[in-house]
Amino acid sequence: MSGQTPKCVIRAQGEDFQSKRRCTRTVIVTFLGTGSGAPTTKRNVSGIGLRFLQAGKWWLFDCGEGTQHQLLRAPMKISQLEKIFITHLHGDHLYGLIGLLASRSLRNGEASPLDLYGPPGLDRYFRAIMETSPVHLHYPLQIHIVSEGVVYEDEEVVVTCRPARHRVMSFAYSVEEKEKPGAFQVEKARALGVPSGPIYGALKRGEQVVLPDGRVLDGRDFVGEAQPGRKIVFSGDTEPCQAVLQLAQGADLLVHEATYSQQDKDLAVRSGHSTAQEAAQLARDAGVKSLCLTHFSPRYEDEEGEFTMEDLLAEAQAIFPNTTLAEDFYSLPVKRERKTMGGNEEACYNG
Ligand code: ZN
Repeated sequence: MSGQTPKCVIRAQGEDFQSKRRCTRTVIVTFLGTGSGAPTTKRNVSGIGLRFLQAGKWWLFDCGEGTQHQLLRAPMKISQLEKIFITHLHGDHLYGLIGLLASRSLRNGEASPLDLYGPPGLDRYFRAIMETSPVHLHYPLQIHIVSEGVVYEDEEVVVTCRPARHRVMSFAYSVEEKEKPGAFQVEKARALGVPSGPIYGALKRGEQVVLPDGRVLDGRDFVGEAQPGRKIVFSGDTEPCQAVLQLAQGADLLVHEATYSQQDKDLAVRSGHSTAQEAAQLARDAGVKSLCLTHFSPRYEDEEGEFTMEDLLAEAQAIFPNTTLAEDFYSLPVKRERKTMGGNEEACYNG
């Protein structure tokens, strides 16, 4: 170890950026499948990776058929997959699951546990397949059947789900980092001649401290502003609904389905989906910072067609300008807003 601050180089499809800051927590959303219903030559069915780069792990949201094949061309390793969240049990979000679980087991030395979250029925689906087409998994797999509320929590993040509105029970998930306590301003303490040691610890905790020379210091004056965590929300399949609107409040990134254009609103209603316009309205109303649309009907893929993907993007951007359209292998870093004592600093990629 050189003892120098490590530089972090992140290479993902379509991007290449380098950070001069010390990298602690870089979060990137990488799309593995962005089409609805059935795969096309351009888009596989649903699968979205959420990558925690420095932790060397990633999570998967939905697992349509062919997801493990997409992974071979993506910057994530199947061995580092830690959790899978299934939004609902429609085939284009689920049929890749068993194959992926089985392949994860074939890797030599693969032993890290895997947690699988999803709606009621996911456990029965898994068991039914295992009974008829058994696979011996060489790692512990735990299946968690979700209901509204917190589905996972650790020291850094909390994952919450809310029921969306679809033809079958479907959940939207939110991944929210916890607030990070402000940094201890060691220079300020040094300048005041505060002796290092336990007193630093007390000040860092925001406590009041009496120095040996009788001076009284308030720890709160020595700690920077707490850093808000990032919030990323995945809608899954849904019509526009109140629950997703509430879940998405203030999100840094909302990944919302936009299966149809507003001109095909009747199809959206019939199939329990959203239009690009509706997704943009929801993003605007929820006050999110950015919107990424996915789960597109193949009907707009013809670049010479009457209505194209560009038109779909324009439809959304007319309402919510900070909208992008996902593509397979598209990677989207989620920025963290840094707060300083003087106010907000420029957003940066790292934690
Ligand atoms: Zn569906």
